[in-house]
Amino acid sequence: MTNIGVYICHCGTNIAGVVDVEGLTQKVAKLKDVSLAKDYKYMCSEPGQDLIREDIKNRNLDRVVVAACSPRMHENTYKKVLASAGLNPFLLEIANIREQASWVHLDKEKTTDKALDLIKMAVAKVRMDEPLTSLSANVIQRVLVIGAGIAGIQTSLDIANIGFDVVLVEKEQSIGGRMSQLGKTFPTLDCSACILTPKMVEVSLNPRIKLFTYSEVEEISGFIGNFKAKIRKKSRGLDESLCTGCGLCQEKCPTKVPSEYDEKMGKRKAIYTLFPQAVPNIPVIDRASCLYITKGKCGVCKKVCPAGAIDYERTDEFIEEEIGAVVVATGFDPFDPVSKEEYGFGIYRNVITGLQLERLLHAAGPTKGEVVRPSDGAIPKRIAFVQCVGSRDEHANKYCSRVCCMYAIKNALLIKEHHPESEIFIYYIDIRAFGKGYEEFYKRAQENGIKFMRGRVAEIFEEQKSRNPVIRADDTLLGMVTENELDMVVLSVGMIPRSDSSKIQKMLGLAASPDGFFMEAHAKLRPVDTLVDGVFLAGTAQGPKDIPDTVAQAKGAASGALEVISHKTLQLSPLISEVDERLCRGCGDCKDVCEYGAIEIVTLDTHKVARINPAICKGCGACAVACCNGSIKLRNYTDSITFAMLDATLGGAV
Ligand SMILES: Cc1cc2nc3c(=O)[nH]c(=O)nc-3n(C[C@H](O)[C@H](O)[C@H](O)COP(=O)(O)OP(=O)(O)OC[C@H]3O[C@@H](n4cnc5c(N)ncnc54)[C@H](O)[C@@H]3O)c2cc1C
Repeated sequence: MTNIGVYICHCGTNIAGVVDVEGLTQKVAKLKDVSLAKDYKYMCSEPGQDLIREDIKNRNLDRVVVAACSPRMHENTYKKVLASAGLNPFLLEIANIREQASWVHLDKEKTTDKALDLIKMAVAKVRMDEPLTSLSANVIQRVLVIGAGIAGIQTSLDIANIGFDVVLVEKEQSIGGRMSQLGKTFPTLDCSACILTPKMVEVSLNPRIKLFTYSEVEEISGFIGNFKAKIRKKSRGLDESLCTGCGLCQEKCPTKVPSEYDEKMGKRKAIYTLFPQAVPNIPVIDRASCLYITKGKCGVCKKVCPAGAIDYERTDEFIEEEIGAVVVATGFDPFDPVSKEEYGFGIYRNVITGLQLERLLHAAGPTKGEVVRPSDGAIPKRIAFVQCVGSRDEHANKYCSRVCCMYAIKNALLIKEHHPESEIFIYYIDIRAFGKGYEEFYKRAQENGIKFMRGRVAEIFEEQKSRNPVIRADDTLLGMVTENELDMVVLSVGMIPRSDSSKIQKMLGLAASPDGFFMEAHAKLRPVDTLVDGVFLAGTAQGPKDIPDTVAQAKGAASGALEVISHKTLQLSPLISEVDERLCRGCGDCKDVCEYGAIEIVTLDTHKVARINPAICKGCGACAVACCNGSIKLRNYTDSITFAMLDATLGGAV
């Protein structure tokens, strides 16, 4: 004989607007084993919680059903209420009469009947629920941050400055990410390097940050609080401990190839660092263009290196690190406009991308900050920016990339500052100036004579004689098709998910949103969490963002990771599957269906059995369904409980 209390929430008019809550309460009060049923306007409010708490104590309730919203919203709230009243929190069931009844039906009578069915099932279940005790696991109090753009840098510094250790892994030879490629930043026009490099140096000097550059995470295993990462530290072709970063090798290297970092607007050597303030300031030998490695000739870098650091034969190293939480900060790729053939990128030399222009405008870039035409090195006098290239486009990406309007305005203003006589046009659909100070920045551009042309660009072609690019566009303000001959066109390319992001996605079991970026656990309430416990997202890996939003999110991810690793032990849900090893024959069907990798097949003396790692199991129950001889059971979701719930709603046992 159990003593069940049922609490029915009005949720304002969310439930009570469609469900006859008073009538329902009277019917529920008559159900078997229900010793009291009460309704209240907002059960999740403090008075609502007090009501339940007092009844547990004064009326000796030994099980509770709350009929309210989705368990995702308030199950934990009510569990805490039970615990605070001295009742096992797993003797609680939620009947979701909001999302599953009042929000999805209109007919009051039928909706009330459905709510009653849902409550009957919850009563049938709670009657048979077993009290469970939370499990605990030790936590490794370190965080792995993957990617060292501004997002990864900020997250790492925040965690380290609070006093916890960080393992920061960056794929490229230096930290800094895309922000290091930018000249100045909107809307304040402060130089990117001036605000980024102090943070880069701080990372390199922080004893709590173990930095791996030119490295990649190859494997991650484990679970929240207890992950293990295998890191490949790629060979730079030299002994890093000997290199002093003097730069002589780069100076003397005879080979020059197009620089990826400069977006092919300049050249680099076969042994090179990305930029003067690179962290660490240690070069890499590009094995594909090094004459010694490809042809056995040259060897100049080895001859001139005063430290004797060059080692062409050096191989990759593998390192294992244990961590308690992971932050993914792997950033974005710029959209490749080659696929938008109508814009002629890659065909006409004077059509470039926004990122290429950033490199030209950069004081340490290939032209030392002077914007020149790629075809002849002349200073362009008539320049147009084409907005939404690869964004807000049914044929490319539907989403807005959120930075292109502002970076085009920024670069237009910078060019105008250098060459006030130049004529600058921005072709746009509409200008998105949503951030702090952005609208004022847009106004400043208009006041400085930058011409905003409203309408999508239909095509860019080359004028036969002058070889100048010409924009043909539908001017929606004038209501006519216009043609505009220019010296140079800049395509404001949007942000897309990194081409290699699927590797990280698979390794960590992350989900991707329809736009391809990593998906957060909840768009509004858990924007930095993922559905994998202990794994968080920072920066543009989660979606297009400018630097202020990236930094804000990076700080959020740091706080998420700290919440995990600041505890020495972690409470784990006991609502998991368990194997009856006497029945199990180790067929492995359960292992095949487990999406979380929680099951392993172990060999005992005479036979094999499945073992479930309680820290990884999420209690989804897929293994219990797949098990052909019923040797796996999901706690509090056994077959007999399910049948009792069916009986309750179909008019059986209750
Ligand atoms: C043309 C252009 C101009 C811009 N101008 C401005 C501006 O003026 N102001 C502004 O606020 N914003 C601007 N932005 C936006 C700004 O660049 C981004 O907000 C910022 O760079 C995002 O930082 P992030 O750390 O998220 O990503 P990223 O900068 O992309 O950094 C990600 C890092 O992760 C590393 N990585 C990737 N995969 C792995 C892996 N598997 N393992 C290890 N490491 C990995 C990458 O090498 C990189 O270092 C501009 C963007 C563009 C395209």
